[in-house]
Amino acid sequence: MFLASIEVLDVDICVQLADKFVARTRASADLKEIMPYLNGMFRSSVYNHGDGSIRFTNDGIEYTIINDQVNIAKFSNRTELYELLDWLKDLINDTYESRSEMTPLYARRKPVPVFFIYNLLPKTNCQRCGERTCMAFAARVNKLEAGIDACPLLFEPEYDASRSKLEGALG
Ligand code: SF4
Repeated sequence: MFLASIEVLDVDICVQLADKFVARTRASADLKEIMPYLNGMFRSSVYNHGDGSIRFTNDGIEYTIINDQVNIAKFSNRTELYELLDWLKDLINDTYESRSEMTPLYARRKPVPVFFIYNLLPKTNCQRCGERTCMAFAARVNKLEAGIDACPLLFEPEYDASRSKLEGALG
């Protein structure tokens, strides 16, 4: 097995969302080799081949991997954290096993423009996402520092079409 375990080093409160947590963990293997394959799988990924780092979001959870360090952000409790680690370990091992049939992607993906994101937000500046304005939130989504799930209004029925477009663009 390529990746035997991911050890939790510490868990802290998320500075962006007070009811969420972030964790620092360490993988039992250097994950650099697998990163170009992960880069090809996640449209939200930001991959840096030189640094051996990748960042991506999945279901509103943010993953940052640097060599054997794995940081996970915006989960709700330790039970969820361990489920996420199991999911990530399975994903990495499945990817490693299947890599001969996959195409690695070494290029950095282009970020989705801030104004494209902003145009699809509710534009109420209600601050429920923790940002002062929808534009500030769009800028954070553009940098992958926030996921669209942090905007509760987007999940109301009247914004279904906008949310679908954002999900399609951000992956
Ligand atoms: S929660 Fe949504 S609508 Fe409210 S300020 Fe944030 S991005 Fe804008």
